[in-house]
This record gives sequence, structure tokens and C-alpha cells, in this order.
Amino acid sequence: MFSHLQPTPIDPILGLMAAYKEDPNPLKVDLGVGVYKDEQGHTAVLDCVKKAEALRLKNEDSKTYIGMAGDLSFNSHIEKLAFGQHKVLLSGRVTTAHTPGGTGALRVAAEFIKKANPDATVWVTNPTWANHISLFQAAGLTVKEYAYYDWETKGLKFDAMMTELAQVPAGDVVLVHACCHNPSGMDLNFEQWKQFAHLAKDKGFTPLVDMAYQGFGLGLEEDSQGLRYLADQVDEMLLCSSCSKNFGLYRERIGAVSIVTADSKTTDIAKSVLLAVVRSIYSMPPAHGAIIVSHILDSQELTALWHQELAVMRNRINDYRQLIIDKFAAEGITQDFSFITKQHGMFSFLGINKEQIERLRKEFSIYMVGSSRVSISGLNHSNIDYFANAMAQVLK
Ligand code: PMP
Repeated sequence: MFSHLQPTPIDPILGLMAAYKEDPNPLKVDLGVGVYKDEQGHTAVLDCVKKAEALRLKNEDSKTYIGMAGDLSFNSHIEKLAFGQHKVLLSGRVTTAHTPGGTGALRVAAEFIKKANPDATVWVTNPTWANHISLFQAAGLTVKEYAYYDWETKGLKFDAMMTELAQVPAGDVVLVHACCHNPSGMDLNFEQWKQFAHLAKDKGFTPLVDMAYQGFGLGLEEDSQGLRYLADQVDEMLLCSSCSKNFGLYRERIGAVSIVTADSKTTDIAKSVLLAVVRSIYSMPPAHGAIIVSHILDSQELTALWHQELAVMRNRINDYRQLIIDKFAAEGITQDFSFITKQHGMFSFLGINKEQIERLRKEFSIYMVGSSRVSISGLNHSNIDYFANAMAQVLK
């Protein structure tokens, strides 16, 4: 039966990564991959992680299974990081399972939604992280897009978004990015979060917040402001978190799915459904990443170190957002790229066309996704001038 299989096209980002790897040009620049890189172009292990791992190595006395919900201490930490001292936690309205990455969290959330409402449509931003669509479709859910990014103004289509979401029926799910929207970098401001939260409450659709970049936008607390306001307003919501970026734990595959229900009795039922979903996919999550995060957040010293290291990553990206503008001006580029400094997180769309993207790759070995999404931390002091100069040439 395998001989009937048709090849599945590979994800364009993976294809781009492979092409970059093979490119012999010593000046090549990778702006494709969504992984934080430092000034040396390296994705280093954070010091707080190294220290937590050393502690783990010393103290680990068993490799027996952890439960289906994963590491309970991690779950409690991740809830507090997201919700702070929120009433939903104090009143026992949240249940959390740690998952293999944010992707695992979304996949489990998709199956959970399918059990809660098999006919639910999941609404995602246009555009969104491409895997969102596959993840929800894989659970048999319908996925539709709502207006979000405005290619003309390089901002948000907020009015259109609100108009379209006003038509979403109760029982559907609306996915919203907590911060650092992937791929556009364009986030809702707090006022817009409030309006979105009131709409969710009025219309009765269920929000699903995807938080893959907490701490990469404005700060740990600031990046969860919108989601906390949303939790003030609605009875039910879902949250998918990831520790890939903010703890640099990409390959450890560590994330969490949290379900907020209207009362603690429903939380118990939701928990049993959630754990049944987990059991039928991977039974129990890998423990290592969760234990590292727990060790960091259990210790005041390691937490302070983590905050520092996270701030270094965040500030480097934000500094480069400004530097891009300055270098473009120095190269005599007259087009307006000021939107780059209004966006947050790893990504922005440059808004250049396919031919220009192709020229950057072929003539200059500068790699970015076909949508013109660039991963800002791929820039550093050794390549920013080269990049700005190449941009000036293709924009002529
Ligand atoms: N959501 C979004 C919006 C993302 O960009 C990503 C990572 N690219 C994820 C979820 C999943 O992250 P993880 O690597 O933890 O699976």
C-alpha cells in the first residue's frame, strides 16, 4: 500500500534552510528560520538553562514516567507566567498539561476542541503561522481566516477584523496571537485587545491564545496583558504556550496547553478530557525541558538570570529594528520602512515582491521566506551593511 503514496511538498521554510546550508557564498545571510541568533549568528544555550541542567544532573534520581499532565510544578509556573495572580487561577478554573512544544500544545488543543464541539470552525489570522492550519485540520476541524494584516498600510486591518469576527457564532474558536505575531510582527495594542475581549464575551465564541513568544515583545508581563484582560472577560478560553524561544529550549520540545473553564467543577471534567487526549497521542510528555524550566523558576537567582538573558534577546531584536531603518537611510533607500519599528518579536514582512526576494537570494545569497518575512535576529554587525546595500540595489 505504501507504493500508492504521493509525495508531500516540504515546508518552504525547510526547503529554504536546506538551500542556505548548501550555498557556498561566505557572505550568505539567513533571514528565514524562526530561531533567535546572537551577534555571532549562533543559537546558544542560555546560562540559566546550563545551570538548571547541572542541578538536574546532580539531583536526578529516576527516569520513571511522569503523569499525562507532565510536570506539575512546571504547569503551575507556566500558568503564573501567563496569568499572574489572576482570578482564573485563584478560583481553580484552569487546568494545564505540559506538552511536546507549543506545536504539541496546539495539536492537543485541536483534539480537545474536537471533543468539545466536533463542528467547531477555528478562525485564524490572515496570514498566520502556516502550521496552525495543518494542525487544526489534522484534528478534523474546519479552519477559516479572518482579516488581520494589511499589506497596504503594513499595519492591522482592525476594523475589518472586528466586523468579520462579529459574525463568528458561539461554539467556534478564534485563535489570536498573544504577542509577536508570526509572520507579520503586528500585534493588537491593549485597547484593541479590550475590544476583542468584549466581542468574544458578547458573541460567545471561544478564544484560543497562542503564546509562543512571551517576553520577546515588550516584556514578560506586558506580553500577557491582553490575554489577562481576555481572561477577565470570558468564561472559557484556551492557551497554548511554548518555551522554545523564551527559554531557548527549541529541541527539548516544551510547551503547555491550558484550558480555562467557567467553574472549577467543569475544570475537573475538562482535565479528564484533556488527559484522555494526551493519552491517545503520546501518553506522557518528555520531562527534561519542563524540569529545566521548573528549576529556573523555582530559584530566585536563576529566574533573575533568565530575565536578564531574555532581555538581551528582546533588546537585540528591537535595536536591530531601528538599525535596519538607519542603515536603509544611509544607503539612500527612500521607501518607508518605519513600520518595522512598530512591530514586535522575531519577524516582520519587508513587503518586497517575489522578484526582489529572488534577486536577494540569487545575487546576494540573502535568504527569506517567499512572503518577504524576515527573521530579524539573523542580522548582526557583520552582515547588516551587506544586507542594507543589497536591499538598496534590488529596490532601485
Ligand atoms: N505558535 C507559533 C505562532 C509559532 O511561531 C511557533 C513556532 N514557530 C509555535 C507555535 C510552536 O513552537 P514550538 O517550537 O514550541 O513547537
